[in-house]
Amino acid sequence: MGFTKGKFGSSLSRAKWRVKRVMMSMWLLVALRGLASHVVVGSPLWLMPMLYLMGLVVFHAWHWMAHQRWLLYPAYKVHMYHHWRVYPPRRFLSKVYKNDKEGRTAWSSFCHDGPLYGGMLLNIIILWTVGAINRWHDLSVAVLSYACVGSWSNWLHHALHIEGHWFERYVYFHDLRALHYTHHQGTAKHNYGFLDFGMDMVDGSLAKPDYALSNNEGIGRNDAQEIHIGQKEQLLLRRPSTSNDEHISAVKPGPLPNLAKDGLKECAFAVVAFLIEINVGILGLLLGVAQEGDSDVDCTVPHKKGDITMLEVEGFWAFFAAAFEMA
Ligand SMILES: [Zn+2]
Ligand SMILES: [Zn+2]
Ligand SMILES: [Zn+2]
Repeated sequence: MGFTKGKFGSSLSRAKWRVKRVMMSMWLLVALRGLASHVVVGSPLWLMPMLYLMGLVVFHAWHWMAHQRWLLYPAYKVHMYHHWRVYPPRRFLSKVYKNDKEGRTAWSSFCHDGPLYGGMLLNIIILWTVGAINRWHDLSVAVLSYACVGSWSNWLHHALHIEGHWFERYVYFHDLRALHYTHHQGTAKHNYGFLDFGMDMVDGSLAKPDYALSNNEGIGRNDAQEIHIGQKEQLLLRRPSTSNDEHISAVKPGPLPNLAKDGLKECAFAVVAFLIEINVGILGLLLGVAQEGDSDVDCTVPHKKGDITMLEVEGFWAFFAAAFEMA
C-alpha cells in the first residue's frame, strides 16, 4: 500500500486547519479514555482531561527548560545533542532511529529526563493532595495514563525522524513532521509540542510548518546531505509547490506493523494512529474544509535561514472557535 492520499494543499490555513483537527482528535481520544475509566473503575469524568491539560503545561515548561542554556546546563546539553548532533536540520531524517546515548552521562540524562517525569508525578501528587482524587483506582488510572501517553509521545517523536516510517501513510503525520522540522530550525525556541500545540499557541511560540521533508528531494535527508552542502542558494530559492501533492512522501511508507514481528506496543500505537486518522476524517466531514484567505502563506516554501516565521494566533480559544465557524 503506497501513499495515495491525493491533493491536500499547503496553504497555511489548510495546514493550520489539519493540525487543529489532529489536536481535537487527541482530545476526543482522551475523553473516550476518561469515559472508559469512568465506566470501568468509576474515575471522575474530569480526571482524564485535567491530567491531559496539566500534562501539556508540564511538557511545554520542560521542553522550554531543555532549550535554556542558563537554566539546567546538563539537560540543555543532552537536548542540544539531539538537536544539533543527531538530527540537525540538514539531516532531520534517517533510515533508522539514531539515539543520543553518546551525548549523555547518567547525571546529564537524569537532569534531562528527571524534570519531565518529576513534573508529571507532581501533577498527580497535586490532585491527590488537594483531595481531587482519593482512591487508589484513580491514582493507578492517572499513573497508567501518563505512562501510556508519555510512551506514545516519545515514540511519535522518534517516528518523526525516521524516513519511510509506516506512519507516513497518514496525512496528519506529515503535518506534525513539518511542525517538528521547524522546531529543529533556527533558534529552535518554537514549536515545543509534538501533537498538541495548544501550549505553543498560548505561549506565542507556534511557528509556520515546513513541508520540505515531504515533497522535496534531499532536503533534511540523511543520504542527500552531501549533495546539498554548498548549494545554499538553491535551498533558499526553491519554488513553492504547484502540484498540491506536498504530502506525498518521497519514499514509500514502510509496511504496517504486525504482532509477531513488531510486538504489541508497535501494534497498539498503530491502532492509536489509526483512531486519530479516523477522528481527523470525521471532524473534516463535520466541520468542512479550511477557508483559504487572500494573504495565505505557502508552507512548502521553507523558512529563510535564521528567519523563522512565527504564527500569530489570535488568542487560544478564538483559534478553535474559528474552526467551528467553518461548519
Ligand atoms: Zn527540542
Ligand atoms: Zn530530548
Ligand atoms: Zn526531534
